[in-house]
Amino acid sequence: MKVTASGMPGAQGIPGPRYDVIVVGAGVAGSLVAKVLGARGRRVLVLEAGERAADPAQGHLEALERYRSAVAKVPGSPYRAHPAAPWPEVTDIAGRGGGGGRVGYRAEGYVVQRGGLPYGSGYVRVNGGTGNVWTGLTPRMHPEDFRTEDFGYGRSWPVGYEELEGYYRAAEREIGVAADVGEQRDHVGLPFPDGYVFPMHPLPAGHLDRVMAGRLDGRSVKDPAAGVPVELRVTGTPHGRNGDPNPSYDGGAGFVPVGAGGRPDAGSRCGGSASCIPICPTHAKYTPLKTQGQWGPTVRLVDRAVVSRVLVDGNGRAEGVEYLSYGEGEGTGAVAGRASADVVVLAAHAIENARLLLLSDLARRSDQVGRNLMDHPVLLTWGLMPEQIGPYRGPGSTSGLEGFRFGPARRSRAPFRIEIGNWGWVWAKGPVDGDVAELLRTGGEDGRGLFGAELRAALRDRVGRQFALQFEMEQGADPANRVTLDHDRRDALGLPRPVVTYDLSQHVKDGMAAARAVSDQIFALLGAEDHTDHSPGPAWPGHFVHDGRPYAYRGAGHAAGTHIMGGSPDTSVVDEWQRCWDHPGLYAVGCGSMPSVATSNPTLTMAALALRSADRIERDLSARDRPAALAGRVHRSPLAPATPGAAS
Ligand SMILES: Cc1cc2nc3c(=O)[nH]c(=O)nc-3n(C[C@H](O)[C@H](O)[C@H](O)COP(=O)(O)OP(=O)(O)OC[C@H]3O[C@@H](n4cnc5c(N)ncnc54)[C@H](O)[C@@H]3O)c2cc1C
Ligand code: SF4
Repeated sequence: MKVTASGMPGAQGIPGPRYDVIVVGAGVAGSLVAKVLGARGRRVLVLEAGERAADPAQGHLEALERYRSAVAKVPGSPYRAHPAAPWPEVTDIAGRGGGGGRVGYRAEGYVVQRGGLPYGSGYVRVNGGTGNVWTGLTPRMHPEDFRTEDFGYGRSWPVGYEELEGYYRAAEREIGVAADVGEQRDHVGLPFPDGYVFPMHPLPAGHLDRVMAGRLDGRSVKDPAAGVPVELRVTGTPHGRNGDPNPSYDGGAGFVPVGAGGRPDAGSRCGGSASCIPICPTHAKYTPLKTQGQWGPTVRLVDRAVVSRVLVDGNGRAEGVEYLSYGEGEGTGAVAGRASADVVVLAAHAIENARLLLLSDLARRSDQVGRNLMDHPVLLTWGLMPEQIGPYRGPGSTSGLEGFRFGPARRSRAPFRIEIGNWGWVWAKGPVDGDVAELLRTGGEDGRGLFGAELRAALRDRVGRQFALQFEMEQGADPANRVTLDHDRRDALGLPRPVVTYDLSQHVKDGMAAARAVSDQIFALLGAEDHTDHSPGPAWPGHFVHDGRPYAYRGAGHAAGTHIMGGSPDTSVVDEWQRCWDHPGLYAVGCGSMPSVATSNPTLTMAALALRSADRIERDLSARDRPAALAGRVHRSPLAPATPGAAS
């Protein structure tokens, strides 16, 4: 793609005057930071690499149609990956198959893979980012998750649950979380302030959840690593999707669900269409476009602007960015531009934030940029319940088993959440077309193919009993798992592509072994037929043998740790406010800052951190603006939690 220089103003008319803040990337993290600072009247320029294809007013129907007609329904299928802003898709990697030991994988596509095992997660570069296609599960981290070093692995956080608690509440308001405090307190062990309720009542448990609860609640399984019985309790999972607003929320003020484009919309409730990944037709699921719809007038979004470098002055202070702006069609070329601001916030996703810091040759002191890449490698097991359990209705998972997230066992194996998978065998084996094909070929008792009424009955019987368990392993920070640049392989704009080097530790593999043992016992308690098959082959790029038993995993999409947060500039990239130690005025926000990926899905915590950083940025800017005599006053954002512990 041809790149021409423009100077300022930018190719799309980005005005020359200095902004207060430039935000790079309009996903969950960037959209929240821009909202908070816009609400303070700050001039915020949001540069977004992707297109506005998902604009609810214009693009949602088009995105839905693209999804409906896509042959492979992968996370990115509602959107068009422009060559100037490519993204990795789960179909970029495949297993080679073969016998014994490490069987290898093939990887194509945008992210170059060089690890012993594949990094199985993708992301999306359109306006709204990966938050367009996420599942929408929003559990909080467990207090133990902040201090994994106490358990002999990973990296501990410089902040704890108590410091984040108020920001969790602020994030739950922003995202609109549906959950039950009593359940989270009693069965997950999370502390809440007295009287707190979530914005919305929990989503109703699915039929599968209720059947499981009937058979599992109060029963125990033996975790081989823990050596003690662990009690099972089917527990509702917090959701970032609209359910029934709780009138008791906010001291009785209640909560108004947010619909398309950020507008209050009581009609946008989860109706169970079961296409949350990648797109919710009714706007029930939170996406960053809802936050963008609430931006103030001083926030300006420019899409199709790929930031290629962060600029710093002679003192190392951030002063702006360079970007490449491309036209609507393919092959239209790109124009280079610059924009300047007092604060630059990288919010481009864990892998792209690291790539940008590496492209800019910044934050090098600790040698940690790009390192400590984490995910939740997911072990899937799947089977058939003895009776019909009504899968494929509602979100992919409404409940889980939380008892393996905490406790001393995490010393000897990775802790994990268990999601009860409501979408049959789709994640494990692909869409139900595969079941149809198999029954057509060999579904009869004598191995003959089934047709007509017999086929329909067999299909109803099989699909209606399908379920899966999804064991999400916490992966500890390991500097060897990292993002680097490939200067020989470049994207259409001529920028080096990201390289991922990735593997699983013994701790994670031991976690998977424990998970498999737990799964075997749960299947027995359920009276379920176990159809789990981790044989090597194209479906399982993430395949390995551990203690003589084959395992296979998938990525959860939870990239974390590439600009890790810590208490010292010698060992971490950002401080507890997500400020780059080495560069005043430069923030890197998102899951990339997380010292551990924890035992919860990460986005709610990431949102809480982003809101906390936005408050910090506002305080930095206020200090800049303020006459010296007023310097002692504390300035609070409207999103700041009531607890004063958040500010310092
Ligand atoms: C299939 C799937 C399901 C998931 N489900 C869950 C879940 O249930 N719960 C959960 O907690 N998490 C979930 N996640 C993870 C969640 O989606 C991410 O944690 C979250 O979206 C990350 O937000 P972000 O703002 O950091 O990055 P993103 O959402 O990826 O946004 C980054 C933005 O930056 C833009 N950008 C990138 N590079 C540049 C550049 N050079 N210049 C300008 N802009 C740039 C991108 O286009 C994008 O819009 C899921 C992920 C996937 C893939
Ligand atoms: S189940 Fe359907 S309505 Fe509910 S969030 Fe998912 S896609 Fe939207």
